[in-house]
Amino acid sequence: MNKTHEAMWKALDLDLSAHEALLTVLGRFYNDIYLSQSGRLKGMEYLDFVMREVHGLRIREIQEAKSAGRKVIGLFCVFVPEELILALDGVCIGLCAGAEAGFDAAERYLPRNTCPLIKSFFGFRLARLCPYTSSCDLVIGETTCDGKKKAYELFGEFQPTYVMEVPQSKSAAARALFRTEMDRLRKAIEDLTGKGLEPGKLRNAIKLVNRRRRALNRLAALRAAEPAPISGRDALLINQVAFYDDPVRFTETVERLCSELEERVQKGEGVVPPRTKRILLSGCPMAVPNWKLPYVIESSGAVIVGEESCVGARHTRDLVSEEAETVDGMLDALCDRYLKIDCATFTPNPERLDNIVRMARELHADGVIHYALQFCQPYAIESKKVEDRLAAEGIPFLRIDTGYSLEDMEPLKTRVEAFLETIGEE
Ligand code: SF4
Ligand code: SF4
Repeated sequence: MNKTHEAMWKALDLDLSAHEALLTVLGRFYNDIYLSQSGRLKGMEYLDFVMREVHGLRIREIQEAKSAGRKVIGLFCVFVPEELILALDGVCIGLCAGAEAGFDAAERYLPRNTCPLIKSFFGFRLARLCPYTSSCDLVIGETTCDGKKKAYELFGEFQPTYVMEVPQSKSAAARALFRTEMDRLRKAIEDLTGKGLEPGKLRNAIKLVNRRRRALNRLAALRAAEPAPISGRDALLINQVAFYDDPVRFTETVERLCSELEERVQKGEGVVPPRTKRILLSGCPMAVPNWKLPYVIESSGAVIVGEESCVGARHTRDLVSEEAETVDGMLDALCDRYLKIDCATFTPNPERLDNIVRMARELHADGVIHYALQFCQPYAIESKKVEDRLAAEGIPFLRIDTGYSLEDMEPLKTRVEAFLETIGEE
């Protein structure tokens, strides 16, 4: 047990022994999947440090922010505009979880055949495993998939929860609804923080989040280089940490990492040998420590060159216009940007198909592996459209549906290896 942080975890009402077991497994998993890689960027040392202190120093910082009067707000979806939270002096944290710990507790409330992402965040709360959730003054859910919106009704019994209504289409009526929801959310955060939304602060928040997006997009574009200059596992980790690190410090780190990557690309150096098969991963978000499929793919001899996912391009691709002067104008700009999100919960959702093809071409992917979390209907069903479109474009495709259990690693590896044998041969 790390005695340095024990008192803090106790004050957050964590189950200390279950939490220690979780950290032990997480540390072992991280060593095997991350620290065993060779040729990593020097700048990844910061990410390793963040992961070592994921429940330690970052939580301490958050407690200090709370003591200074800031409110901590947790999110589960990239649809909730972080800019509003930052502009109202909140600390914004992504709460999605990627581990099976807590499933037993979650299944007392949720059906077994619920998406693991939902079971995981619910289970982490019930089993008292997550210091981020315990630190939250408010969690903001959203009406995306049915599983999440119904789970929030139950989750609200354990933690103050606000649900933002998110449209399911991109019609003019849907945009009007979303704009109204933006005002309702603004009011809720103003009530929580006791502050009023000021144009200067909202403009700064928009610029800050855009700057982080630009840094992550710069990193994403550098992955088009051959040989690939960074592993998919490391790139995924960077995108995962974006959800809970301090945004200024994190952005500066990614900018430095990009400079290091640029040097590597200019020298023609890669993290893998030239002609290593290149894979675009597409589909559901991968929250920490859901690294199973990236590990399976990269330990099968391929390299992942992009993530068409909310922990990836869907989170960063579109920027908010910085032109508006008034709060209303900026809220309109936020609406326009967030409605460009191409989540499978939208119907119809043709933009996503275009974006997958564009990413596959720009990143010189030899094939696309579509990843749906078990019991995630939106992504599992939409995978047929993705498959058909990629077939029409002549891009090889493999569909994988899996959960958080490690039990299917061997069969997954067999399928991935068989797929790799069929692609990228000229
Ligand atoms: S996949 Fe859809 S519901 Fe899930 S985080 Fe992304 S936008 Fe939100
Ligand atoms: S992965 Fe699918 S089922 Fe799970 S929360 Fe996201 S949209 Fe819902």
